[in-house]
Amino acid sequence: MIRMRSDGREPDELRSIRIEAGVLERADGSARIEWGLKTKRILVPRSEEQHIRELMEQYYIKMHEVREKDLVVDVPEKLYKKLKELRDYEVVGEGFRGNIAVVAVYGPREPIPKHVGDPYKAIVRFAYRMAPFSVPERKRPAPGRREIEISKVCKEALQRVVFAEEFPMTAIDVFAELLSSDAGTRVTALTAAAVALADAGIPMRDMVTALAVGKIPVEGKETIVADLTKFEEDLEGAVDLPIAITPRNEEILLMQMDGRITKDQLEEAVELAIKKAKEIYEIQKNALKEKYRRVVQNE
Ligand code: ADP
Repeated sequence: MIRMRSDGREPDELRSIRIEAGVLERADGSARIEWGLKTKRILVPRSEEQHIRELMEQYYIKMHEVREKDLVVDVPEKLYKKLKELRDYEVVGEGFRGNIAVVAVYGPREPIPKHVGDPYKAIVRFAYRMAPFSVPERKRPAPGRREIEISKVCKEALQRVVFAEEFPMTAIDVFAELLSSDAGTRVTALTAAAVALADAGIPMRDMVTALAVGKIPVEGKETIVADLTKFEEDLEGAVDLPIAITPRNEEILLMQMDGRITKDQLEEAVELAIKKAKEIYEIQKNALKEKYRRVVQNE
């Protein structure tokens, strides 16, 4: 029927990304990031329930509410436009599906406990946390194995870009709180963390820009795509490949992979990641410029 990705995007299309720098008064640097899609909430008559349930299996449509006479379903805007070509639906609201994170940076400051300090350089610490309400089923609030792993890989990526030798015996602490999640949260957190580090005035060799690329079946055909949703990640045969790069030197700081992929597909995916990272880099730079525009105006 409709030939496209499950939420109406083109294979190489990112979800919308909005970044704001300097959002927290108490932190030395901070950023808020919204990485996702707006949705339309539409009314579907009960008589079409079977049809809408079939679409839900195939596309990124979610049941919002079941009413006596009709169903309220959430549909990404792009997909809604395609559905509208087939038939008119009444829109009863709007929503958002994606990742939202707030990142705070403190430091360089005295490390606590003191003995973890390095006499030759600053240490970077990264705490990635997903809020209990950030996923459909309540997540246990205690940090799990997954959060410890993500914190570790993010820390290692950032440690490679900050001029740590300039700040011996100090710690740079990064806290990333995920308020909403829909796949790609480690790259969302890293992209915002790099902006927050710059906002804190911490000298860096380059920016860090991160996104996930991968492979999913689109109409049964293996397709290399940018920025997978949770729905896409869970498709059979899907491969998810989070990558963080320095956008100017194109150095890879993080690369992980779930699933199997051929060498050619991997090359295509990495090439796509580098291309799309440049788009995200512009959004990061604009967030910082906007912050300083505000500062100058208020002086
Ligand atoms: P990333 O968010 O970096 O893609 P994963 O691949 O581990 O990391 O997770 C993919 C997605 O799975 C997350 O973004 C989130 O939407 C979902 N998820 C992860 N952990 C949980 C959990 N404990 N409960 C429900 N959903 C989860």
